[in-house]
Amino acid sequence: MIYDVVVIGGGPSGLMASIAAGESGANVLLIDKGNKLGRKLAISGGGRCNVTNRLPIDELIKHIPGNGRFLYSAFSVFNNEDIISYFEGLGIKLKEEDHGRMFPVSNKAQSVVDALISELHRLRVTIRTNTAVKRVNYENNTVKEVVLQNGEAIQTKSVVIAVGGKSVPHTGSTGDGYQWAKDAGHKITELYPTEVPITSSEHFIKTKTLQGLSLRNVGLSVLNKKGKPVITHQMDMIFTHFGISGPAALRCSQYVVKELKKQKSNTVQMSLDLFPSQNEEDIFQQLVRTTKEEPKKAIKNVLKGFVSERYLLFLLEQAGIDSQALAGQLQHEKLREFARLCKRFEFAVNGTLSLEKAFVTGGGVSVKEIHPKEMSSKFMQGLYFCGEILDIHGYTGGYNITSALVTGRLAGSNAGEFATSLA
Ligand SMILES: Cc1cc2nc3c(=O)[nH]c(=O)nc-3n(C[C@H](O)[C@H](O)[C@H](O)COP(=O)(O)OP(=O)(O)OC[C@H]3O[C@@H](n4cnc5c(N)ncnc54)[C@H](O)[C@@H]3O)c2cc1C
Repeated sequence: MIYDVVVIGGGPSGLMASIAAGESGANVLLIDKGNKLGRKLAISGGGRCNVTNRLPIDELIKHIPGNGRFLYSAFSVFNNEDIISYFEGLGIKLKEEDHGRMFPVSNKAQSVVDALISELHRLRVTIRTNTAVKRVNYENNTVKEVVLQNGEAIQTKSVVIAVGGKSVPHTGSTGDGYQWAKDAGHKITELYPTEVPITSSEHFIKTKTLQGLSLRNVGLSVLNKKGKPVITHQMDMIFTHFGISGPAALRCSQYVVKELKKQKSNTVQMSLDLFPSQNEEDIFQQLVRTTKEEPKKAIKNVLKGFVSERYLLFLLEQAGIDSQALAGQLQHEKLREFARLCKRFEFAVNGTLSLEKAFVTGGGVSVKEIHPKEMSSKFMQGLYFCGEILDIHGYTGGYNITSALVTGRLAGSNAGEFATSLA
């Protein structure tokens, strides 16, 4: 038998592609090498599944720094609001949280996965799990067959490659699809970790001085050679035993990778602004007023509450201020230095955790060789790509899953229409 569409990979992009292909009336086979579908989707958003994000389209695109603009045409067909309506139509009510993030009201990622699987059953999509694909064969610039690890060849009119990137490989995403894309003539742009914790060998990191300390709503920047910010993200962060993590650090991570390369250096400077909405002079004046009010108390007690205690003691030391010194006896110069450090504490970072530990893979199948309205290959008839295998990556916050669902929808419906239009 010849399938109309074979979808390889049952992550969000492959699940949506199979559904869209099924809706077009195509005869669809979905193959996944894992024992379950949607394994990464089930652990996303802390196990609650951050299905999409409700920000306006232009904002969505800004939050997809890896080729987000490529998605403009796809969003004109199926976008975040369509994703929300789609899931509500399947009986999965969604709620909005901070920064536009959308989650199922049930707080259970599995409910999202199960709803998609029910749709596959309703549309009579054939599902084969525990089935690893080895390669895709092409003939005369057209897709011919999908060959499994066990040697079985499956004939098909079209193939949707939805096998994800290379991050968190225990969920099944082991980068198998890049070779199949190369075999079809596609370029794979350099792969690198994004949305990944940042490492540092600064003394205060090595001595674990700040390990476990979280800072809320700080401004975290990656600096260029001249000390100017390449990017600043205002969010929460946490110090770890190897460096920094948390939303602000994850968002900065890809810029660390790029700056290290650009500067051809082993380290890059980052800067931490504890009070992004105040300027240094205001902070200094506030310090002067506070120290005048209680001149006979130790500075560490006077500034209690101004900055969280561990960071306060750390910054006092960095500013060369004895934490026991009496507030009234401190020179203004010292207070100025403390205010400066509140606004701009600089430290060196030397990289990130590995691609395997990253939330998302940067790089992938070059979008220049993909038709943006169809997700089809510009080289091979009947070949489609969707999801993280593409050179598209967003910040965490629902942007990657949005990209996977949107590109999956397009790839599946176009593959279905293409295959069913053939004689
Ligand atoms: C812990 C974690 C949390 C995350 N949280 C968020 C978040 O909050 N917001 C957000 O937007 N993104 C988040 N992401 C990223 C998001 O989950 C991924 O971008 C998304 O799952 C990619 O979807 P995909 O369909 O392209 O690939 P994947 O979900 O990776 O699925 C690929 C599938 O292909 C299958 N496969 C691979 N090779 C083969 C083969 N040879 N044969 C057969 N099958 C194969 C795999 O088994 C897998 O099921 C998170 C990622 C992780 C790891």
